[in-house]
Amino acid sequence: MAGLTFKNIEKIYPGNVKAVDDFNLEIKDKEFIVLVGPSGCGKSTTLRMVAGLEEISNGELYIGEKLVNDIPPKNRDIAMVFQNYALYPHMTVYDNMAFGLKLRKTPKNEIDEKVKEAAQILGIENLLERKPKALSGGQRQRVALGRAIVRNPKVFLMDEPLSNLDAKLRVQTRTEISKLHKKLQTTFIYVTHDQTEAMTMGDRIVIMKDGIIQQADTPQNVYEHP
Ligand code: ADP
Ligand code: ADP
Repeated sequence: MAGLTFKNIEKIYPGNVKAVDDFNLEIKDKEFIVLVGPSGCGKSTTLRMVAGLEEISNGELYIGEKLVNDIPPKNRDIAMVFQNYALYPHMTVYDNMAFGLKLRKTPKNEIDEKVKEAAQILGIENLLERKPKALSGGQRQRVALGRAIVRNPKVFLMDEPLSNLDAKLRVQTRTEISKLHKKLQTTFIYVTHDQTEAMTMGDRIVIMKDGIIQQADTPQNVYEHP
């Protein structure tokens, strides 16, 4: 479990592109934060800095009490789910979910327990022997979530995880991700450009524009005082 603190965070890409500018935010433990804003406003960059996939140019980022600027991704206790899922096509669902744990030399019985527990949470117990190509988009999305869940991350990062799903499935999966958040009791940071998604899912919505936070408030307050 962990909250996050962003102190004057900046990201300057080569060519002097300031993608994130003086970003200050405190995220509470177990909070569901939605980062929303138009394409190019710096959402992905912010998320990738939390994941450790992008270097922080200036400022300080804390996960819990720990300053993580120089901590590599694998030591940050975070898990990230991408829009393209990035499943290994040649592996079964089980092996896809087990892979990260195997790399960490987790004992086999523990891997088995964790994979089965995550599969149960996501309702994919009957798909464990299938390969990704034999799954629907929604099922692949669950496997991607499962791969993250088995690691018991303190912080769950999602970058437009629903954007490859059709409209109906998107609404359904939205509800499931909210339920998952309640069940896992971890901090979620969820990136989307979809206002409705933001308003229905977030405990708090952080609206970005041109790399700057414009507003950070509850859906209710954002609705009443846009
Ligand atoms: P969003 O996720 O909101 O669409 P991004 O974080 O992807 O926004 O991008 C923010 C800004 O940073 C954009 O102007 C984008 O063109 C720029 N940018 C993103 N990645 C890079 C990169 N690797 N090199 C240079 N500029 C980048
Ligand atoms: P973790 O996130 O726990 O490290 P992953 O299963 O996501 O576990 O990745 C394990 C390793 O495999 C990482 O070093 C990662 O860079 C690499 N990796 C992840 N996804 C892919 C992929 N689709 N193809 C090739 N390598 C990958």
